Amino acid sequence: MPTATAEQIKQWLDEYAILIRRHAAELTELDRLIGDADHGANMQRGMERVQKLNAAEFADSAALLKRTGMTLVSSVGGSSGPLYGTFFIRMASTIAEAEDETNLIDAATLGKALREGVAGIAARGKAEAGDKTMLDVWYPALDAYDEAVTQGANIHEALVAASTAAETAAEATIPMIARKGRASYLGNRSAGVKDPGAASSVLLLKAAADTFTPVK
Ligand SMILES: [Mg+2]
Repeated sequence: MPTATAEQIKQWLDEYAILIRRHAAELTELDRLIGDADHGANMQRGMERVQKLNAAEFADSAALLKRTGMTLVSSVGGSSGPLYGTFFIRMASTIAEAEDETNLIDAATLGKALREGVAGIAARGKAEAGDKTMLDVWYPALDAYDEAVTQGANIHEALVAASTAAETAAEATIPMIARKGRASYLGNRSAGVKDPGAASSVLLLKAAADTFTPVK
């Protein structure tokens, strides 16, 4: 039997797959301008595989998240496979520790899991804030999330706050000069284009805001 959380996690991943497909050309175009023109196609291929996973076959949401990460590592080329893969695998371990017999993820637990996932991205990519990477979206988004939770927001409201902060933060990567990844080879010429990983990260948070509802 699928748990409530595994179903909700699956809805999030399915919505992300839909948004990635819808924005694939745009993501690839950003990557064409400052990378190697494959981000949209790569993420689409990976998320199509994830979409085929059957939530009912997983014992809990942690198991589903772990498989999602492994699927992305093995099917997405470039740096985004390992980065997104690590994100989901690290999220899985945090949720596995927190998950109890109710199998419900509360706002604080999801926030902690997202932050662990992002720590995984930072470690894997050896990047930090200001490098013009997806982290420049994630850090402000997580801060907005935590701030909302502190003020009593439920999981949906906190994700809306995170998603809104993420959109603003992604725009703010446009003038940045890349210090990591292929875009960094361009030096000053990397300025003027939104980071593709930042753009796809916005979609992941938007998908979360659109699918997670309060459980308590
Ligand atoms: Mg690329």
